[in-house]
Amino acid sequence: MDWTLHCDVCDVDWPADEVRYRCSCGGTLDVKHPFGDRALPSLDALDARRASRNAVDRSGVWRFREWILPLDEAHIVTRGEGNTHLYRAPERLAQWVGLENLWLKHEGENPTGSFKDRGMTAGVSVARWLGMQDVACASTGNTSASLASYAAIAGMRAWVFVPEGRVAFGKLAQALAYGATTLSVRGDFDDAMRLVQDVCADEGIYLLNSVNPYRIEGQKAIGLEILQDLGWRVPDWIFVPGGNLGNNAAIARALLDLRDHGFVDRVPQISVVQAAGANPLARAWRSGAAIEALRADTLATAIRIGDPVSAHRSLRGLRQTNGRVDDVTDDEILDAKAHVDAAGIGAEPASCASVAGLRKAVLAGEVDRDAEVVCVLTGHVLKDPGLVVDYHMSQLDGHPTPFANAPIPVDATPSAVRDAIRRARGA
Ligand SMILES: *Cc1c(COP(=O)(O)O)cnc(C)c1O
Ligand SMILES: [Zn+2]
Repeated sequence: MDWTLHCDVCDVDWPADEVRYRCSCGGTLDVKHPFGDRALPSLDALDARRASRNAVDRSGVWRFREWILPLDEAHIVTRGEGNTHLYRAPERLAQWVGLENLWLKHEGENPTGSFKDRGMTAGVSVARWLGMQDVACASTGNTSASLASYAAIAGMRAWVFVPEGRVAFGKLAQALAYGATTLSVRGDFDDAMRLVQDVCADEGIYLLNSVNPYRIEGQKAIGLEILQDLGWRVPDWIFVPGGNLGNNAAIARALLDLRDHGFVDRVPQISVVQAAGANPLARAWRSGAAIEALRADTLATAIRIGDPVSAHRSLRGLRQTNGRVDDVTDDEILDAKAHVDAAGIGAEPASCASVAGLRKAVLAGEVDRDAEVVCVLTGHVLKDPGLVVDYHMSQLDGHPTPFANAPIPVDATPSAVRDAIRRARGA
């Protein structure tokens, strides 16, 4: 072990092999790597690992282990996460967004259907390395789904804290199915988050929320893999939805490290997109003031977060990549989702905030029409089937559904079916 846990606020290092999530000042901790003293693989070597017979080499996280965490293979708990598709946006979608050169990195293609698996393989592997038997998180859903799966594979007990009644069905189903002990907290996500942090230390449970520095390390692989997918060409922009703000911080960190060590010559600009009802970062960005917690409300449950844990490291990454922050309304998210879904790709609501935010930025002239842009789609379309069906049945209270594709009721006779086909074709 050659890394430490670093507090950016007081510039203090903590040892990596003790259970610690925050500095004594309360600040979040970052894993600090001595890259200069570590043998770093060439880009060709990283490409060769993709075809390896070794599952650890092939993992879209552990392939980059020198950049993420050079943990001994014996500790690694992997499901072959990452290796998600980088789609060139189908033409109709690209036109709607207003860009020629648009890519979609579909993190919903991870083993449990969201990018959280990238952080979780790192977090659960560290739990094994530290000898922990129990792991826990508070979650709007995807983190708990991922934790439940990786803990089961590692033979650990998973404790999941979810806000009662506010978790999309697909995600709750996963936590239960993978065998996590699920505490349905009468409160919102921020309440669940506070509670899990309170009890983990006393109960000997390893906390795997994004306050855990190793989750962020695993998520760095998204940025690395995007560049690898592009043959190590650096796009102009990466658009990412923002909730707890760990993901954008992780992507920025990875790409800055790669540049600082001479593997690429520049970094993309990073744009965080929040939901207008859960936008503490966007507010702070616009006003120039410090981030203030708020009561969050949005249909995009994965980013319904009012008090983001990783605000500090997020802002740092945004400044270092000449980034930007914006927010979009739920109706803008729903429109973007309808287009992403109908393009045949599909993603959960929060994911589509990236596409909605990009369209807004293009229309406002803040992103050039000839820029090469990657939108991160953070979760799978089936994570929130309730919202999808309500949208297409036009049953989303208070929200217009201009792109609804409702099923057509039809009698069980050939003539009724023929009539329905003619009507649907507009004949
Ligand atoms: C967790 C999550 C987010 C938010 O990511 P942060 O790192 O918390 O900003 C966005 N979309 C989906 C689908 C998620 O699961
Ligand atoms: Zn500190």
